[in-house]
Amino acid sequence: MTRMTALLERNEQFARTYDSAVLGAPAQQLLIVSCLDHRVDPAIVLRLQLGDAFIIRNVGGRVTQAVISDIAFIALLSELFFGSPDNPTLFEVAVVHHTQCGAGLLADPGFRQQAAAATGVTEPELEISAVTDPETTVKADVERLLASPKLSPKVCVSGHVYDIATGRLTTTMDARYPDGDRPAA
Ligand SMILES: [Zn+2]
Repeated sequence: MTRMTALLERNEQFARTYDSAVLGAPAQQLLIVSCLDHRVDPAIVLRLQLGDAFIIRNVGGRVTQAVISDIAFIALLSELFFGSPDNPTLFEVAVVHHTQCGAGLLADPGFRQQAAAATGVTEPELEISAVTDPETTVKADVERLLASPKLSPKVCVSGHVYDIATGRLTTTMDARYPDGDRPAA
């Protein structure tokens, strides 16, 4: 027995009507970066269908070096397999932070000390991971990604805040390309 046992019946129901999808670009041409908080699952709150979007989730939905590497990898695959000269955009990265985020606890020095001991991540690194004001942190992360030399010029980036109290997602930064302009078709 595992905790998964109860979910296997749900999977059985899923598999009964499942059509295997051909590998292709995600239908919504989106890559979502989101917190791993179980209350903010992008697939649920955005009503995504299977094959709609790439999703990367971590504590806070922060744009870390690992996230930048993953986005660069996905952009490479997209360019090689789904890229077309007619379409100057591979996909849009939507960075989503949320209210009531547990990563806000990292703003507290006492908690940060405990978290550093538990994770092996240094206190200064944890401090910059804190999400106390999602609008501010999402802006910082969109700028960080846009400034990365690893970001493909064919990828644009937008910022959004999800409100746990209302279930509403608000766009706080419209999509922008690394060079500020949309690449020529
Ligand atoms: Zn969170």
